[in-house]
Amino acid sequence: SKEMGRGNFHFYQRSLERHAYDLLLLERELHLAVERQEFILLYQPKLSIKTGHLAGMEALIRWNSPRLGQVSPQEFITLAEENGLIVPIGEWVLYRACEQIQRWQQEGFPPVTVAVNLSARQFLQTNLVQTVRQVLETTQVSPEYLELEITETIAIQNVELTQVILQELREMGVKIALDDFGMGYSSLAYLKNFPLNALKIDRSFVQDITTQLSDRAIASAIVTLGRGLGMKIVAEGVETAEQMQILSELDCDEIQGYWLSPARPGEALGEIYQRIADS
Ligand code: C2E
Ligand code: CA
Ligand code: CA
Ligand code: CA
Repeated sequence: SKEMGRGNFHFYQRSLERHAYDLLLLERELHLAVERQEFILLYQPKLSIKTGHLAGMEALIRWNSPRLGQVSPQEFITLAEENGLIVPIGEWVLYRACEQIQRWQQEGFPPVTVAVNLSARQFLQTNLVQTVRQVLETTQVSPEYLELEITETIAIQNVELTQVILQELREMGVKIALDDFGMGYSSLAYLKNFPLNALKIDRSFVQDITTQLSDRAIASAIVTLGRGLGMKIVAEGVETAEQMQILSELDCDEIQGYWLSPARPGEALGEIYQRIADS
């Protein structure tokens, strides 16, 4: 069930059975991790299909626990959302991402937009607008270089509040992307009423896009829909040149995935530019 020490810590068993002991252990370690700042951020690039240029980066959190090893974000973010630790973790992520934007700029790179994932709790139960404003001010980052990725689960919980918060963020100049699009209980009304800049096609529709006509039809419909609403369309989880080719034919704007690059440390930006220039 659980492999501890080196290697990966699997908190959820395949059977989906949760052990109370594992939960307590993970929870205790997560508290310590927040105190001791055991997290780091990696950055995964997005490529503009049309221009062939770097379109931006997505910040993805990593926890290398001295006691549990690498714990996957899926596992500890879920727990952090339940116990509220997502609030300090989420603030840390915002700060670090903006600090990185600043650092890259100081190193002489052209400005890079960085996307940060937000959880529902962070979005609806904290003063997110105030936090974002403060982070941008402290780090001296221009709002246009910060993008926030939200999911449909946020919208479902409180549509009116979501709309108000999104509006305030947009007025501030921050960008908003709807992540994992097509996976949740999406209502098309959200798309109409929310001020979104981008739609991210979920990896599950990209995975078999070369062989499944149904997936291709869905991706195509998402592109048309987003396009009609003035949004940018990003496909995530692109792993092969063939997938990339089809998405290009479907008129998708940007791609992200292992085909281009996995998430890398901030120090790798130069290499990422090089790789894009060479491809
Ligand atoms: P997500 O936001 O949908 O992020 C995409 C996930 O797919 C990442 O996993 C990324 O490493 C992975 N990925 C990227 N390209 C490919 C590909 O070509 N093939 C495959 N198979 N996978 C690919 P990761 O980093 O393990 O993150 C998992 C989830 O954890 C994220 O899904 C996001 O929901 C959450 N997460 C990660 N970082 C944060 C964070 O800072 N805050 C919050 N609230 N959630 C986060
Ligand atoms: Ca995301
Ligand atoms: Ca996603
Ligand atoms: Ca996804």
